[in-house]
Amino acid sequence: MIRNYWPECAPFLDQIQDWDQLTLARYAHRTARPPFAGNVVFIGDSAHSTSPQLGQGANMALLDAAALSHALSTASDLGSALQAYAQARRNHVLLFQALSLIFTPFYQSDSHAIAWIRDRLVSTVATIPPVQRLLASIVAGTLIDPFAATGLRERDWRQD
Ligand SMILES: Cc1cc2nc3c(=O)[nH]c(=O)nc-3n(C[C@H](O)[C@H](O)[C@H](O)COP(=O)(O)OP(=O)(O)OC[C@H]3O[C@@H](n4cnc5c(N)ncnc54)[C@H](O)[C@@H]3O)c2cc1C
Repeated sequence: MIRNYWPECAPFLDQIQDWDQLTLARYAHRTARPPFAGNVVFIGDSAHSTSPQLGQGANMALLDAAALSHALSTASDLGSALQAYAQARRNHVLLFQALSLIFTPFYQSDSHAIAWIRDRLVSTVATIPPVQRLLASIVAGTLIDPFAATGLRERDWRQD
């Protein structure tokens, strides 16, 4: 099937003779609470592992970096800065980990029923407002504002 979609893959596919040559993907949703220990601070996947269904892992890592930088430059001492960093990212990380967990079976599952819901039901409902907008904000990572707490402001794309 992959060969049909992407014939250039053939030389790589031909090397696979046995199921044991494959490493199956496994996803875990884990969160370091708090995302620091002593003088070590965790950002990105080291702070929150998340299944990749919503494509937000790199975005969340960048938001962590911005939040940490903002907290370090505005808090009065290191302890308060680390607490502020943890607080700034908590809800956004929790929400997107939960959504990614919920969406995982719809993207990767052997269930015909779930595939039917994804391909028929969701694809139809997704065209109806406001679901369209809701789904866009989920895949953009902006279902709740990730910017204000990190000292950032969303760009107004309509002005470009
Ligand atoms: C299949 C898949 C698809 C994905 N798709 C998307 C997507 O479409 N969009 C998106 O935003 N995110 C996606 N992600 C998630 C994204 O790749 C990660 O969330 C992101 O790379 C996390 O960045 P990070 O810097 O925290 O960690 P990493 O990118 O993992 O960086 C950690 C680095 O540390 C290095 N390292 C590890 N141990 C040591 C050590 N002891 N000493 C020195 N260096 C070390 C590693 O080699 C690595 O270079 C996907 C992930 C997977 C698995």
